[in-house]
Amino acid sequence: MVVSDNSFIFACVNHALVVELVDTPDLGSGAARRVSSSLIRRTMKVKILIIGSGPAGYTAAIYASRSGLSPVLFEGSQPGGQLTQTTEIENFPGYPDGITGDELMDDLRRQAERLGTDIRAGVVTKVEFARDSASCHRVTIDDSEVIETQTLIISTGASAKYLGIADEKKYAGLGVSACATCDGFFYRKKDVAVVGGGDTACEEAQYLASLCNKVYMIVRRDVLRASDAMQQKVRNTDNIEILWKSQVRGLYGEDGVEGAIVETDGQTSKLAISGLFLAIGHHPNSELFRPELECDNEGYIIVKHPTTATNIPGVFACGDVADPIYRQAISAAGSGCHAAMDAKRYLDSL
Ligand code: NDP
Repeated sequence: MVVSDNSFIFACVNHALVVELVDTPDLGSGAARRVSSSLIRRTMKVKILIIGSGPAGYTAAIYASRSGLSPVLFEGSQPGGQLTQTTEIENFPGYPDGITGDELMDDLRRQAERLGTDIRAGVVTKVEFARDSASCHRVTIDDSEVIETQTLIISTGASAKYLGIADEKKYAGLGVSACATCDGFFYRKKDVAVVGGGDTACEEAQYLASLCNKVYMIVRRDVLRASDAMQQKVRNTDNIEILWKSQVRGLYGEDGVEGAIVETDGQTSKLAISGLFLAIGHHPNSELFRPELECDNEGYIIVKHPTTATNIPGVFACGDVADPIYRQAISAAGSGCHAAMDAKRYLDSL
C-alpha cells in the first residue's frame, strides 16, 4: 500500500474501513513510500455505534437502521442482556401467551439484523470521547479494534448485586431470582423470601405478597433502609414477615430451592421457601465511561430528561444504565427508541 506523508488516510466517510498509520518511527519523511501491513491498523468510521444488546440497545438499533444510519452494535459480555437470565416474560406487550427471555431477545436481535444493523460480538474496553462535535468518539473493542463514531448510544444495562454465596449460582433459574416482577408469577401460592431492606426489597415483597402465600423479608440490620411510606406498606401487609438481623448463608433443595439456611444473631436455622429474591441493589454498568460522562452517586448516567442526551455532545444513554427507577424491559426499549431518534436529530444538526 502506498501512503503519503499524511498520518491518517480516510478511505470513506461513513461505515468504511479507514487506514490509520500508527507509530512509524523508521519511516522518516519525504515522498510516498510502501508500508508493510504490520504498520497499519484498521479503523472503521460509523455514524452511530450502540454498546449493549438488551431491549434498549436492540430497539435503538431497530430505529437507527430504519433511519438509514447503518448502526453497528456491540453485544458485550452478555449477549441479550439481563433478560436472558429470566425464565418466562409475561409483561412485555405483544406476547399474549408470554415469551421466554431468550426468545424475546432473539426476536429483537433478528429484527435489528433484518433491518440492517451490523451486530457484532465484542466487548468495548475503552472509550475516548470527542472533544467537540467536529470530532469522532473513539471506541476500542476487545483491546484491539478501534471504531470511530459520530454518535454513541450507551445501553450497557445494570447488574443485580448478588450476595456472593456459592449456592446463588447453583440455583440460578431454579429458585434464585433478582426480579420479582419477572419471576414472581411462578411462585404463586408458595412461600418465598426477599433479601434486602431498601425500597426495592419492600416493593418486591409487596408485589410477591399479592401472589404468594407468605413472604419473608431477610434484613441484615434491625431497621429498614426503605422510605417511611414503603415501610408502612410492608408493615400493613399481613403475609409479609420481616426476619431482622438475618443473613442467608446457603440454600438447599433437590431440583430447585426448597429452603434457605438463615443466620440470625449468630444462630442458623432452616427456612422453608421455594424462591429467594435478591433485592440488595443494582449497579449500573457505567464504569467504563466515568468520570467524563456525568453519573449520579449510584453510577447511573445522567440524561437531560425528557431526552437521552448526556453531558457529552453526541453521546446518548438509554435503558437500565440511565434508569434508577423503572428498570423494566419495556421502559428500556422505549428509551432505546428515544436514543436513536435523539442521535438522528443530533446528526442532522451537524
Ligand atoms: P438500596 O441500596 O437502597 O438498599 C439495599 C438494601 O439491601 C439495604 O437494605 C441493604 O442493607 C441491603 N443489602 C445490601 N447489601 C446486602 C448484603 N450483602 N446482604 C444483605 N443485605 C444487603 O437499594 P434499592 O435497590 O432498594 O434502592 C436503590 C435506589 O432506588 C434507592 O435510592 C431507592 O430509594 C430507589 N428506589 C425507589 C423506589 C420508589 O421510589 N418506588 C423503588 C425502588 C427503588 P443496609 O440497609 O444494611 O445497607
